[in-house]
Amino acid sequence: MSAIDDLPPLRTVIAEHQLSARKSLGQNFLLDLNLTAKIARQAGDLTGCDVLEVGPGPGGLTRGLLAEGARRVLAVEKDARCLPALAEIAAKYPDRLDVINADALDLNPLAHLTPPIRIVSNLPYNVGTELLTRWLDPPEWPPFWSSLTLMFQKEVAQRITAAPGSKAYGRFAILSQWRTDARIVMELPPEAFTPPPKIHSAVVHLQALDAPRFPACSKTLFRITAAGFNQRRKMLRASLKGTAPDIEDRLLAAGIKPTQRAEELSLEQFCALAREIDKT
Ligand code: SAM
Repeated sequence: MSAIDDLPPLRTVIAEHQLSARKSLGQNFLLDLNLTAKIARQAGDLTGCDVLEVGPGPGGLTRGLLAEGARRVLAVEKDARCLPALAEIAAKYPDRLDVINADALDLNPLAHLTPPIRIVSNLPYNVGTELLTRWLDPPEWPPFWSSLTLMFQKEVAQRITAAPGSKAYGRFAILSQWRTDARIVMELPPEAFTPPPKIHSAVVHLQALDAPRFPACSKTLFRITAAGFNQRRKMLRASLKGTAPDIEDRLLAAGIKPTQRAEELSLEQFCALAREIDKT
């Protein structure tokens, strides 16, 4: 029996199902169920919510989410070896855990979820930023999810929550902070995982705002942030040259000096520039 439910401890589960960690799948497992329940709590009240979990592995975080009262968990796992261990959890929580054996990049989870929806995951490093980018840039806003509670490499978490002028400030900060409240809620050392990765990790909680902080077209905003930060040491008149033929005039009209660099611009200034570029 474990600390949060009457299922076997995760070390026993891993040994019984021979779930040796595979680096190619980003497998660094959390085995402390008190810790996984604490991560689940960072997502807020889960009762009455469907939760999407990408990469449940042997089910440590899944068990935390269920013990914390999630109405339903949809767990998407690429590694078929984990399915028997996850089936044991599903049997203990009737009608509350659905497991899909798929690559999360190929699956439309909406078909399997009912709002309100929260996404809570200890993401595999190889697909983590791609999934975050997709969740942050859906076809419509507000998105299908109300919050994201995600474990990342600490440097990625810092890029999401970074302020202008800092080394970590870039495209991810703009993408995240434009339409969510984003903060780091937990930091975890390598020893929290089995096997321990080489890096430190952090959990970021992103709460979707009802509307963007400042008006702008997302395509234009992401295009100028990509261009600006791809050449972050260059002045904006050079780094944004390809985004509009009269970029210097557009910068000035938005109240931005063409000699400034992308890392000096606030989110509000990026949005003002996006609106200027979209004026005919
Ligand atoms: N949630 C577990 C935990 O916290 O201990 C495991 C987290 S481990 C960092 C990442 C998990 O994602 C692994 O179980 C791995 O097999 C799975 N995974 C890797 N790539 C995936 C993908 N493209 N789609 C779905 N799952 C994936």
